[in-house]
Amino acid sequence: MKFAVAVDCEGPACVVGNAGGTLNDSVNYEFAKKQATREADAAARGLFDAGATHVLVYDYHGGGLNLDYDRLDTRVDIALGSGSAHRFPGLDGSFAGICFVGYHAMDNTADAVIAHTFSSKTYQGMKVNGREVGEMAVDAAIAGGRGVPVILITSDDKGTAEAQRFFPDIETVTTKTSYGYNTAVSMHPARAVEAIYAAAKKAGQRAKERGAFRPFTFPSPLTLEVRHKRIETAQGDSRRGNGWERVDAYTVRRRMESIEDYF
Ligand SMILES: [Zn+2]
Repeated sequence: MKFAVAVDCEGPACVVGNAGGTLNDSVNYEFAKKQATREADAAARGLFDAGATHVLVYDYHGGGLNLDYDRLDTRVDIALGSGSAHRFPGLDGSFAGICFVGYHAMDNTADAVIAHTFSSKTYQGMKVNGREVGEMAVDAAIAGGRGVPVILITSDDKGTAEAQRFFPDIETVTTKTSYGYNTAVSMHPARAVEAIYAAAKKAGQRAKERGAFRPFTFPSPLTLEVRHKRIETAQGDSRRGNGWERVDAYTVRRRMESIEDYF
């Protein structure tokens, strides 16, 4: 049984940003990378203990160079860096499930640590066929389009609530309770690691039962709407001539066959 673990850095235990900046500007960034590594390792170990024969870890915060690879379980393979033609290179229908570790709530979520959708600088939010979506739903739909279901999401309380709304049958671990964009009460990082190990093991075991998890997909074709923070970047997208049309000063939309076309 093959599994994947995609890792972001905003959602792990004891991670918040700095006022006015992104996670990468924060004094907490070094710890975030360390804790994301521990939590990814815990998920991988849980999956191996559930019978996984292969675990592929995606280093997916920012430019894809965050984790301390030496500290991951030596049985995993690691996808790192940026610039591949497709999101999740190497992920196909032979994988039994994917875990999202350290993910965060979508943009427009109040009191969630570093809530954003792909670009906290440029975007104000994203909708697919009129429904607001975040990185969890988009990544799940990409995996789902290849027949791979999400089986576990770890995040703050607003993120796991979002996960339950989109994928009610999956396992979740809440690493911290957010009280604002840069403030939370967190589980101790070591205890979060234990909880993620246990949840990944349970998810891996459940994945052996046929139909325990269903791949999440968007209809095809679909309409993707992106609301920008600045009129200037919305204007830029709508004038690039690759199918983006202007909805209003801040918003552009594009019809696509699959959400993969966005990347
Ligand atoms: Zn991130």
